Amino acid sequence: MLGPEFSRIIPENLWIFGNNPGMHELAIARNLLRQVLEVSEQEKLVRVRLVALKAGVLRQIVAETLSEAFAFLALGTVARGAKVRLAEIPARVRCRACGKEEEGFLASCPSCRSAEIELAAGRELFIDYIEGDRK
Ligand SMILES: [Zn+2]
Repeated sequence: MLGPEFSRIIPENLWIFGNNPGMHELAIARNLLRQVLEVSEQEKLVRVRLVALKAGVLRQIVAETLSEAFAFLALGTVARGAKVRLAEIPARVRCRACGKEEEGFLASCPSCRSAEIELAAGRELFIDYIEGDRK
């Protein structure tokens, strides 16, 4: 008898919830589960083992709270018992004056001193990949 086929799925730009920095872990977990179940159905997964997320540092997600909320909501679904792993994306700013990008949450450009800077990274929240089993 063959074992289940192991799959690693990399959804393209699967944003969990736009760009809402105030979102609570429970609401994130709910959206996350909905997307994970959608992908599972498309990919015919019978079991989800891991959900790997990437989250900008500025979202300030508490990984443990998110994992617990997800574990609770996923009971009775193919994602029950799945691990949720969170990788943090550092903040980065882009200078509108000189175009330079720098890591950090800076108030002015370290190159040209301009205060015309915008956030280039640090508020993302998306599914990086999902691991699971096909029948
Ligand atoms: Zn600059």
